[in-house]
Amino acid sequence: MKRLFSPWRLDYVAGGGRRERGCVFCRAERSRDDRAVLVVARGRTHFVILNKYPYNNGHLMIVPRRHLASPSEATPAARAEMMDLLVRAEAALCAAYRPSGLNLGMNLGRAAGAGIEGHYHLHLVPRWDGDTNFMTVAHSTRVIPEALETTWQRLSDLLARPAGSPRRLPTRRAAGRGRPR
Ligand SMILES: [Zn+2]
Repeated sequence: MKRLFSPWRLDYVAGGGRRERGCVFCRAERSRDDRAVLVVARGRTHFVILNKYPYNNGHLMIVPRRHLASPSEATPAARAEMMDLLVRAEAALCAAYRPSGLNLGMNLGRAAGAGIEGHYHLHLVPRWDGDTNFMTVAHSTRVIPEALETTWQRLSDLLARPAGSPRRLPTRRAAGRGRPR
């Protein structure tokens, strides 16, 4: 299954909800169907969700369960868990996709490009040598070769495993689970 996305809108069209009532992240938090809402892992204070309009295969976001505008509104324990989920998500992405690097980023406020204002989310975007940087891509389209359902299955399986030894970039793991074409 092939899809063509508009990557420069990745943080713009990811759901559209701007208030808690219509907030796509709050809906995902309340959902009991993780597959339907693309949630790949849930912690006590944060969950990990696929971007519905990914910039690259494996594009994840770490999102607080509460509708908070900034990590400054979260408790220290919640912030610690966000970092813990970040490490686990990095390991899962490395095992599944063997990226050469990762972009991590957060857009706080509309002026910074936040598409879902008021509910912060930390993006993790796998990168490969030779893939295009943000500035170049901002004026073109990209093909995302892997279907979101496949990505969801791979990453939710990996994140369900007990935390093993930390895996860092680059990794030689995941033989047979090749990088995206
Ligand atoms: Zn929300």
